[in-house]
Formats: sequence, C-alpha cells, structure tokens
Amino acid sequence: MSNPFEHRPLRVAIIGAGPAGVYAADILTKAEREFEVSIDLYEQHPAPYGLIRYGVAPDHPRIKGIVNALHKVLDRGDIRFIGDVTYGRDILLSDIRALYDAVIFATGANDDAALNIPGEDLEGSFGASRVVSWYDGHPDVPREWPLDAKEIAVIGNGNVALDVARVLSKHADDLLVTEIPENVYEGLKSSPVTDVHVFGRRGPAQIKFTPLELRELSHSRDVDIVLYPEDFEFDEASDEAIRSNNQVKTMVNTLTNWIVEEQDTGASRRLHLHFLQAPVEILGEDGKVVGLRMERQELQGDASVKGTGEFTDYPVQAVYRAIGYFGTPVPELGFDERRGVIPNEGGRVVDAEGAVVPGVYTTGWIKRGPVGLIGHTKGDALETIGNLLEDHTELVPASDPSEDAPLRLLNERGIEFTTWEGWLALDAHERALGAAASEAGEVQRERVKVVPREEMVDIARTADAPVH
Ligand code: NAP
Repeated sequence: MSNPFEHRPLRVAIIGAGPAGVYAADILTKAEREFEVSIDLYEQHPAPYGLIRYGVAPDHPRIKGIVNALHKVLDRGDIRFIGDVTYGRDILLSDIRALYDAVIFATGANDDAALNIPGEDLEGSFGASRVVSWYDGHPDVPREWPLDAKEIAVIGNGNVALDVARVLSKHADDLLVTEIPENVYEGLKSSPVTDVHVFGRRGPAQIKFTPLELRELSHSRDVDIVLYPEDFEFDEASDEAIRSNNQVKTMVNTLTNWIVEEQDTGASRRLHLHFLQAPVEILGEDGKVVGLRMERQELQGDASVKGTGEFTDYPVQAVYRAIGYFGTPVPELGFDERRGVIPNEGGRVVDAEGAVVPGVYTTGWIKRGPVGLIGHTKGDALETIGNLLEDHTELVPASDPSEDAPLRLLNERGIEFTTWEGWLALDAHERALGAAASEAGEVQRERVKVVPREEMVDIARTADAPVH
C-alpha cells in the first residue's frame, strides 16, 4: 500500500503529558521511519509530568528527578505541548480524528481500587490517591485536608501505602526542604497524629514494597517503627521467595533486623507495620470513622491466605486504602471494568467486539494497569509506537492535518490553553518562590508549588504570545 505520509508528516496527538505520554512522544520522534512525524502532546493541567508532579511523594527527590529527563525531551522543540486542555470536554474524539492521523491515550490510573467492605463511605475513610494529590498540590483537590486523627490506618503493602504512611507520620518541618505547597505544610504542621498503622493482608515475604523505600521508613526523625513478632510467619512459598528473590530477601532481613534491634526510642510518633491482617469493616459512629476491624490471616503454603476467624478492632480515626490505583474511564472509548484499562492489544485500542479501532492507541498505566515503576512505561511505549508505525499505511488520514488547525479550533472554542513557554514561566516562578522561601527561612527550598489552577494558568499565560 502507498505511504500517505510521503508528502506531509504523520500527525499524532498524545493525550496525557505524564511519563507515559512523554516517553511515547520521545520514542516516536526517534524511531526509524521513512516519513516525518509531528506530535501534539495534550495535558489537562497547565503543568506537564503527570504522576511525577502529582503522584510521587515530595520527599522522593530522586524519583522526582526523572522530571529532568522529561524536561529535556519537551524542551527540544520537536514536540508541541498543549496544556490545560481536557480531552472529552474541550476536545473530542471527532476533533482528534479530523486533526490527526493517530492518537495515543496515556491518561494513567488516577482512581483508587475499592475495598468493598462496610464503612468505606464513612467520613475519615479515604482513597490514597486523594491524599497523595493533596500533599502533591494537585489543583483539583480541596486545599484543606482533614488531618484530625491521632491514630491512622493505611491498608495495603505496596509503595503507595509506604508513601502515605511516611508522609502522614513525618513532622511537617522535615518536609520543608521539599516542594510541598504552603497549605500542605500548614496542614501537616497541625496534625495531632501519634500512630500510623500499616496493614498487609499477607505475610512479610509477600510485601510489594521495594527495599529502598522500606529502609527509608527508619530515617524519619522522631518516628519509631513498631513490629509484631507474631506477624512473622513464613510458609513454603515464603521460604522459596526469600531463597529466589533478592529483593524479598533484603526486605525480610530489614524487617527482622528491626525486630531484633530495639526500635523504641520514645519517639513522639510511631509507625506500626502489621502483617497477616485483612480489613473486614471500617467502624463508625455518627457517620465518622472510629475504628478498623481486622481479621487475622493464615498463610496457606502457596503465599495465599485464609481468615482464621480471630478479629481485632483497632481504634483509628482515619483509614486510607492504598490497595492499588485504578484506571479512570476515558470518554468515548471502551473500558475494561475489571482491570481498569482501555481494552487493547499491544497498545492498539479494540472495541467491544475485540476489533481494532483504527488510529487509536494507548500506553502506560491506562494500557496495562497501575503496576510497575515509572521506567517500565518505556517498554510499553516501545510496543505501542512499534505497532502504530507498522499500521501507518492503514490509518485514516486526517481531513485537516495542518499544525495550525488544533490551535485555531481551541481559540474558536475560547479554550485558554497553555504552552511549553508557559510552563517554563510557571517553572521559573515556582523556583523563584523556592529561592525566596530559602532566604526567608532556615532550609533550602528548590521550588514551592503553585496550587490553584487559575493562578497556574495566569502565570503560564504571561509567557504566551497570543496564538491565532
Ligand atoms: P501495589 O504495589 O500493587 O500494592 C497493593 C497492595 O495492596 C498489596 O500489598 C496488596 O496485597 C494490597 N491489597 C490489594 N487488595 C487488597 C485488599 N482487598 N485488602 C487488603 N490489601 C489489599 O500498588 P501500589 O502501592 O498502589 O503501587 C503501584 C505501583 O507504583 C507499584 O509498582 C509501586 O512499586 C509503584 N510505586 C513506586 C513508588 C516508589 O517510591 N518507588 C511509590 C509509589 C508507587 P496483595 O499482595 O495481597 O494483593
């Protein structure tokens, strides 16, 4: 078949400027091909970087540092960033089809998986993603977070549970060196928390943490780690995991060392790690969380667990479920309700009958589910881009593929999108706030985030020349 992109570039829209979208754009620009490509990267926020800006914990500068690599990609000038535009509201699939030859959805997984136990809707019961968004200064969550609990439960044994437990148990002053916004500092500063309990439903050899993140727990000032020797059960599968998997071995060693070494330093806050405890009910009074009922679990030999019928009620006033993120359905596309992904084959989006939808692709967590570290998203993007390029002769060419057309459409609709130059202005502004705060205070702050969306847009648009 002839190549429709012999005389003009292949026009591609990518929806979502988190790591998945930026990696896809980068891989597409660098891929071996016999035609030009031209990419527009749409983002619902005025700032790029998705999960790194709004999902990685503020006290993880090493992971936040991935931003530097993504910045370099977007700063090259061969990928056009269009910010503050929401797919499904400001721009629809029919627009995308008219303006582009292909589209890649990289919208991520922003919701929390449900526990489906009684009490989940009580006041004081939260999905982890919401508090993560709050402490990362996401513009669309309330500025005030209810931090009135002295005792907090975090359900789950993955890295998100560790992030939430660590941030909520740390003293606010120890987070001042990070980019946390002022309202988050003030909120954490007034928190009366004394005890944070993290609950895993399986044993210490079945944790989904990573070694670095686990060890880091012991670095928080004035926070003691509390472990329970009776939780340290290992079945055959556990022994095998410890033998065959270095990460598991390292982490089980870390935990057992913490039991042996005295951890009780008389700190004013404690972080408890419980294993073999599954949540049964969130207990309430007057509509508010007052406790969490857990059932003791027993390992079955194959790393699975079974309830023992022994129940314990923990007095807690807030419960955070960190049992995994869940994809958010994308308007006008199918959705796999069980896995929380856009149904796809190797990144090619398929319809309800399993037929490939021409020109529509997906990558990242909305493609494969919310598992794996940020870098794993690159492999995903490679597969999706490989398939897109393989399909190029089958694509339905856009009716208006000019680069001006999308901006004209947005302007006609009165949508005040932001640009890369706008982000650079906002970035500089946040760094300047950091420098001013460093001068005024005792700690060095690289950046202070701007939270309100209107303020972000105003600052970004000071840099934007009017686009016609
Ligand atoms: P995750 O790693 O999949 O962990 C989910 C945890 O929830 C597991 O311990 C799971 O236990 C538990 N769980 C699931 N359903 C449950 C239920 N009904 N009751 C009780 N417990 C339940 O998910 P995540 O923590 O959301 O992390 C997502 C990904 O992001 C991971 O790849 C993670 O490493 C990554 N991440 C990395 C960092 C970092 O700092 N490096 C930070 C955050 C996230 P079972 O094992 O028994 O199912």
